[in-house]
Amino acid sequence: MSRFWSDLVHDLTPYVPGEQPRVAELVKLNTNESPLGPSPRALEAIRAEATDSLRLYPDPDATALRETLARYHRVQPDQVFVGNGSDEVLAHAFVALLRHEAPLLFPDITYSFYPVYCRLFGVRHETVPLDDDMRVRVADYRRHCGAIIVANPNAPTGIALSRAEIAALLDEHPDQPVVIDEAYVDFGAETAIPLVARHPNLLVVHTMSKSRALAGLRVGYAIGDAALIQALTRVKDSFNSYPLGRPAQAGAIAAIEDEAFFQASRATVIESRERLVTGLQQLGFAVLPSSANFVFVRHPHHDGAALAVALRERAVLVRHFARPRVSPYLRITIGTDTQSDRLLAALADILARNQ
Ligand code: PMP
Repeated sequence: MSRFWSDLVHDLTPYVPGEQPRVAELVKLNTNESPLGPSPRALEAIRAEATDSLRLYPDPDATALRETLARYHRVQPDQVFVGNGSDEVLAHAFVALLRHEAPLLFPDITYSFYPVYCRLFGVRHETVPLDDDMRVRVADYRRHCGAIIVANPNAPTGIALSRAEIAALLDEHPDQPVVIDEAYVDFGAETAIPLVARHPNLLVVHTMSKSRALAGLRVGYAIGDAALIQALTRVKDSFNSYPLGRPAQAGAIAAIEDEAFFQASRATVIESRERLVTGLQQLGFAVLPSSANFVFVRHPHHDGAALAVALRERAVLVRHFARPRVSPYLRITIGTDTQSDRLLAALADILARNQ
């Protein structure tokens, strides 16, 4: 603690990202990265930017990338905002759209960055508990609020709302900004982007970190009505004129254009997920229905925290949340089938020893 810190910093409890260990041979299934690697075309585009041109600032408006995303999602370029990872896009959304006198609503449990941003940016908020099946229930959001943010699929449960349910949420709240964080949407959920045309209060946030395997490049984006995008741009221009470097802009364009690679890799992850689910169920785990690149599981006779520690001892990293409702669970990222097999073997060993 320092006497030079502001009160705000004294009061902050920062978000703690999943561990990024430097140990080789580890089966790393704790931060929902892609096991497959980025598109070779994206890598080539990134390498092509490693020239003398790096002495020049990048395009502050990322025009070419926004145009590419607009074509891809069938919207206009002024309906697209890009940022340094979706965490940054979300940060701007919290400031520009989610901060009102009436409280922001979001589920409990959800992405643990949301309460951190509320604290940092002074956003009043109320959480809405998941229902008994760990689902977001749209009817529970029928209450006075200033704005809503929902991760769809939700994290860490992996359970998705349908587009019709999101439409119902929007119909209930035509006068409040509604942000749908679709970080994991490509693994089996329906995107809300087609609803943008009818709902000027809807902002849909995507990332290139998961289904495009570019977590290290830091690219996220939002799609919404041009007025919402203008609000985000105002905040961005008050904070960082150049959120995306030249390699990030070029790599992201190439990744979006490599549709065949994208479709193949998300199909692979979905297949590996179904295979892992079967393996976990055979070991007695209950698995929530996942539309994401992770599964949320619990064993009727074994505590989540103890399992996470025992897995770590066997060089397998998964995520455990030490919070009341979810502490029995483990969140396991979908890795390669070889990684899944190592996880399943480690779990079988742990369960056999602790019977
Ligand atoms: N939203 C959710 C729900 C996430 O789980 C994550 C990943 N931690 C993000 C957003 C942020 O991803 P990124 O900043 O890598 O785009």
